[in-house]
Amino acid sequence: MSDFFRLQKRIDELSAIGARDGAVTRLGLTADEQAARDLVASWCAARGAQVRRDAAGNLFARFPGEREGDPVVLVGSHVDSVPEGGRFDGALGVICAVEAIESLLDVGTRFQRPVEVVAWADEEGARFGIGLFGSAAAFDRLPARAAERADRSGVSVAAALRALGEQGDPALARRDPREIAAYLELHIEQGPKLAEANRPLGVVSDIVGIVHGRVTVKGRADHAGATVMTARADAFLGAAEMALALETAARSRENTVGTVGEVGVRPGAKNVVPGECVFTIDVRAPEQSRIDAVMADFRDAVKRVSEARGLETSVDLFNAIPPTPLDATMRDLFARAAASVGVEAPVLPSGAGHDAQNPALAGVPTGMLFIRSTGGSHTPRESAATVDAALASDALAFALRRLAG
Ligand SMILES: [Zn+2]
Repeated sequence: MSDFFRLQKRIDELSAIGARDGAVTRLGLTADEQAARDLVASWCAARGAQVRRDAAGNLFARFPGEREGDPVVLVGSHVDSVPEGGRFDGALGVICAVEAIESLLDVGTRFQRPVEVVAWADEEGARFGIGLFGSAAAFDRLPARAAERADRSGVSVAAALRALGEQGDPALARRDPREIAAYLELHIEQGPKLAEANRPLGVVSDIVGIVHGRVTVKGRADHAGATVMTARADAFLGAAEMALALETAARSRENTVGTVGEVGVRPGAKNVVPGECVFTIDVRAPEQSRIDAVMADFRDAVKRVSEARGLETSVDLFNAIPPTPLDATMRDLFARAAASVGVEAPVLPSGAGHDAQNPALAGVPTGMLFIRSTGGSHTPRESAATVDAALASDALAFALRRLAG
């Protein structure tokens, strides 16, 4: 059984690092993130773990097994945050991983396989624009020339790693996926489904695929007073219709979302009919077929609206991440783990990206457990109850005992 008060104390301790005015700012590859790693390392070392940091800044705390040469069971999440984020995104997954292991050690459990707690570095990508940085480095999925990417003050990834005492090459963190028997991650849900269903835990089926694109709509800039409504080629109004069509396309499909998050209008004056409008699209679904269907509907709308309004429109896609189905065996294991603590856990996809994608795409059997949270995420309002965290730690402990006990 996990220790409620130990959990509560650690949630408070970890969230004090980088805390200001109720928010937590602990950006990747900074001294604050390192302080969080040091704290987690101290908890693990006190229980006999061997602690190390790899070339990408990932922390691994290894609890030995009877069969030391066996592939390890990896369990954890990340300890960085977005600017002015909350106390739970990422951090809770690491805290509960440690709690699960300690609760097993408290009752004298001896691991057969080694178990490692991991705190992935810079998951949020808030500083250098590389999301899932540490896990991408470990599983050889970093974007090209990642080490050269710089933050707003011109500090490169390589320099930030050197400042931590590493060599500056994150690719050196690469790990052979065959050394890893399984990867488990607990994370706050970041959506309202568990809270609405009144369930503390959920089992993640898939991590959504994402398409990012930029749409450029060209019309004709005209005088806003002298040009009658029937004689206009208003790029913004065309873009608005296209954005609404994206909404309709996403709403008509289950677990599918479409967002226009950035819009720019040119020339951008209140007395000029917009001659050009550029907007972004973000489409996500747990199945590629649904993403493709939304994009097909959207392209039809682009064609129809452009013809009707005399506009010229181009759609450029610049990022596509495939949907990542998580391992069916791990899904079953987490369903049983939740049942073992009295929770009938719904199965749901993750609409946000997670470190779990990288081991899963590298072929490591990967499972994710969601914990109910309210107040959204990436905000100081995000909130998970410690009683739920205790249930989650017990469920994780159940899974670890099956995989490594
Ligand atoms: Zn996270």
